[in-house]
Amino acid sequence: MKKILESLRVQPGKKIDLRNDYDPGCIGHFMSKEDTEATTAAGIRLLAEQQDKLYAQNTYALLIILQAMDAAGKDSTIKHVMSGVNPQGVQVTSFKVPSAEELDHDYLRRCCVALPNRGNIGIFNRSYYEEVLVVRVHPEYLERQQLPPSLNDRHIWSRRFEEINNFEKYLTDNGIVVLKLFLNVSKEEQKKRFLVRVDEPDKNWKFSAADIHERTCWDGYMDAYEEMFNNTSTPYAPWYIIPADHKWFTRLAVVSAINETLDRLHLAFPEVTKEQKEALLVAKAEMERENAEAPGRKNKAVKKRGKKS
Ligand code: AMP
Ligand code: MG
Repeated sequence: MKKILESLRVQPGKKIDLRNDYDPGCIGHFMSKEDTEATTAAGIRLLAEQQDKLYAQNTYALLIILQAMDAAGKDSTIKHVMSGVNPQGVQVTSFKVPSAEELDHDYLRRCCVALPNRGNIGIFNRSYYEEVLVVRVHPEYLERQQLPPSLNDRHIWSRRFEEINNFEKYLTDNGIVVLKLFLNVSKEEQKKRFLVRVDEPDKNWKFSAADIHERTCWDGYMDAYEEMFNNTSTPYAPWYIIPADHKWFTRLAVVSAINETLDRLHLAFPEVTKEQKEALLVAKAEMERENAEAPGRKNKAVKKRGKKS
């Protein structure tokens, strides 16, 4: 997987051609879902172990940013990849069309308040990157942002790229590690998944007419994504373009990218000092004395319970 991940990472400073350089149907050297099952399961177990250490250490936080076109599998990836982790250490936030209250602030503000605590994994299901994607494809969203006219000019996108890069550098410098994943689904596969959403009653709720409208803007989105990758994949917060036409491969690639990122932190359970260790031993001795001083009490309680049943 190391080699595959390397090929999925957008090299900072390199200009990519999204449509030609990245195949949404890529499955690496794997042949089928069955072929990946053991590796994915091992990855999920490793992630759970890493998360325990991240939580215990309470030093770093991991922010995972998920971006994608509709039906690329963001929700199901979160559900599967996070299936083994302690829910107490994960914070998932989905960003929708901004409310009137949110529009009354700068665009990063709603994301700032949702950043993960130290020790936690935070997942942004969409993010401030929508500000250079949907807002770029649909200029009417920008009009609603009440920006001073002098700042609503043709340089706004390059300024936003710079602002985002600076923000992510700030996060990284404060121990919040940023991992950015784009689930790259093809237009053909999106159509298949949309049709399933229409045909299967249990999936109808996932589909809306707005999704079809967004689909008609596909090329505009691909152009916006490509420019975003070329401007915001940095050494401290790189983008990964994850093939998303085969969900089983997406899950393996996502869990591997998360584990590789956590690996670099060399996480370990906090070591206790000599004094702390001594205090632990004193506490243990005290608990043992409790039992020694009142040996009969526990037995009586057990006998009473025994009589009742
Ligand atoms: P979903 O993720 O399918 O629930 O849809 C959420 C919708 O909110 C998507 O169509 C996004 O493009 C849209 N959205 C998210 N963030 C923004 C934003 N900052 N400005 C405008 N629309 C957004
Ligand atoms: Mg949707």
